[in-house]
Amino acid sequence: MSVIVRAKALRRLFDVSKPWLNRVVEREPKAFLTAVADVDFEIEEGSVYALVGESGSGKSTIGKMVVGLTSATDGTIEIDGIAITGNDQKAKISEARQKLQMIFQDPYASLNPRWKVRDIIAEPAKLRGLEIKGLPERLLQQVGLSPEDADKYPHEFSGGQRQRIGIARALSSEPKVIVCDEPTSALDVSVQSQVLNLMSDLQEQLGLTYLFISHDLTVVEHMADKIGVLYLGALVEEAPKETLFASPLHPYTRMLFDAAPRLDGFGREIDVPKGEIPDPINPPPGCSFHPRCPLATSLCKTVRPQMRLIGDTRVSCHHV
Ligand code: ADP
Ligand code: MG
Repeated sequence: MSVIVRAKALRRLFDVSKPWLNRVVEREPKAFLTAVADVDFEIEEGSVYALVGESGSGKSTIGKMVVGLTSATDGTIEIDGIAITGNDQKAKISEARQKLQMIFQDPYASLNPRWKVRDIIAEPAKLRGLEIKGLPERLLQQVGLSPEDADKYPHEFSGGQRQRIGIARALSSEPKVIVCDEPTSALDVSVQSQVLNLMSDLQEQLGLTYLFISHDLTVVEHMADKIGVLYLGALVEEAPKETLFASPLHPYTRMLFDAAPRLDGFGREIDVPKGEIPDPINPPPGCSFHPRCPLATSLCKTVRPQMRLIGDTRVSCHHV
């Protein structure tokens, strides 16, 4: 198995300063929010790598950096060995970028309402200069819709059907890697599993690689081969799915598992995670999870834990 996506020391800051005049008057320095902090991961070709974490943990920012919708502040992303974050070898970078596509969370916002489905689906293929005659119709069938749907507009479809169109669109440029950002979070529960099954089938049939982003552990369990757990922009734990579900090591991962909406024998939901996510503009020193962590000691308040390999799990915690 070869690595197709490699992220090294990936960082992304956002400038969240007040307007210049306010800063001068109030004598405030610029303020930066760290959305992604030194993230490393590798995705093997033909596998599904899931990033899981609460809202605001940096999942979408990582996904956007991988497909090139957002630039990295620091660090590198390689696709098939080509560093797409560098600025040399323009031709090679654009060739590498052509191997990428993205499926977005909101199937209502991500399809141009004025375009016919045919044109929506054909667009990525057209941009790559591929033959598009009959392609939208073929892809519509592949995602479980009908070839006649090519002449309709997005508003004529349900949420689940629109996401199928989004998938057909992503497939049209024959990508090797698809970043799927919460692709079923906006859908009714009853439709979610159908769309997830379709995505799983396509991944296997076409040998695709997915970077699959979700805040939902049940969805991740359904889809992933390997899982990375994000907290405040940093990876805190990464393991093959079976390992992570059988023995989560990081206290945050355990907290997520405890919080996952599970029904006990009486049909009650179990508690949500304790404590707030801290402010990413002023993250806590040491381990950024320490204010919420039941195991925290003075070491955790001062020294940032490094990633360690324990069995086939990578984990950053002083106490595991
Ligand atoms: P997730 O997808 O896990 O919910 P995001 O990647 O969207 O997280 O956001 C990570 C952090 O970066 C959040 O604190 C968010 O508010 C911040 N952020 C994302 N995009 C921007 C932006 N364009 N400007 C400023 N802050 C941003
Ligand atoms: Mg997001």
